[in-house]
Amino acid sequence: MGRYRHGERWKMLCSLAESVQTAGSWGTGPHRPGNLRLCFENALAMVQKTDGSRPWASLPDKSEGLVDAMFQVSVSVEIGNGQRALFWLDRWLQGKSISELAPCLFNAVGPRVVKHRTVDEGLLNNNWARDISGALTVQVILDYLLVWELTRSVHLMPEMPDRFIWKWTSDHNFSTASAYRAFFIGQTEIQGAKLLTKARAPNKCKFFMWLVLHDRCWTAARRKRHGLQEDDTCILCAQEVESISHLLVRCVFAREVWHRVLSRLGWHTLVPLNGGYDLASWWSSSRKKLQKDDRKCFDSLVLLTSWTIWLERNRRTFDHQSRSVFEVTSGLEDEAVTWGLAGHSSITSFVVALGRSFGRFLVHM
Ligand SMILES: [Zn+2]
Repeated sequence: MGRYRHGERWKMLCSLAESVQTAGSWGTGPHRPGNLRLCFENALAMVQKTDGSRPWASLPDKSEGLVDAMFQVSVSVEIGNGQRALFWLDRWLQGKSISELAPCLFNAVGPRVVKHRTVDEGLLNNNWARDISGALTVQVILDYLLVWELTRSVHLMPEMPDRFIWKWTSDHNFSTASAYRAFFIGQTEIQGAKLLTKARAPNKCKFFMWLVLHDRCWTAARRKRHGLQEDDTCILCAQEVESISHLLVRCVFAREVWHRVLSRLGWHTLVPLNGGYDLASWWSSSRKKLQKDDRKCFDSLVLLTSWTIWLERNRRTFDHQSRSVFEVTSGLEDEAVTWGLAGHSSITSFVVALGRSFGRFLVHM
């Protein structure tokens, strides 16, 4: 079975987190935590189809509806001797299944027969017609005529086994990783997500940043939108609407914090300007202006500073206590030292620029 690359595991964690965020519980979000299991079930389904000699090929098939649906859209069949492809379920007729081509007829067939009738059995003496047990409505008869017409021209090749074609890889061979990726097709790429994947920071900060990039933080603007509060003014500057972009990069308070932090490394030109951009676009455009060696440190600082500003916002909102820009920044610097001690070496050049070694002041020569 394929292994998941780091990025895919991270993406999955984000998806799981999204499920929790949107639904408040496991299992009802758009991407359910069972996705990984579904991949393995897909793997199992594929192995059962294509390789009867593998030891797990005869394990009982406990796949659920979603796995079946995923499998159905992912696999089509080049028909050979018809001994492995299922007559009613697999996509063997012009790349489609009978359940797709003739749904009313399909519904008139018993579920047990559907799971076991192979193409060669079905075509032999038109046995498939005997599988129909439901009422013969006009639509069922029309479907029946269609299938009759389509199957008439099918000729099996006794020497050749059926070939199952996996849609998600270029060589049409199944891989677990490709099955996993297929679950994310159609999911929009979030700006900054790739940067976040690589950024070095404690998980709590990465998770917070993930919420920022998805605009899922409970800012005053969001709370007002959901009818939770009347006032959506920024708690830091008391001037503008408190959206997450405002809080982190547009707010005058936040920009002062950024200025103090980035100036330590001589990066004051990167301080967010009073423009209309959001954190992700500022982050990705600013880091390009730096040497490659400095980008890791910058990425960590983006997470640390955003996290610190958010904590100050929470302190003011929930504890009714406020700190000055100076106090906030010196708290951030202490936190940077802690990160360094915890092994986040990306932050080292910032700590050194503060004139601090990890945990104590450097002795100036
Ligand atoms: Zn503000």
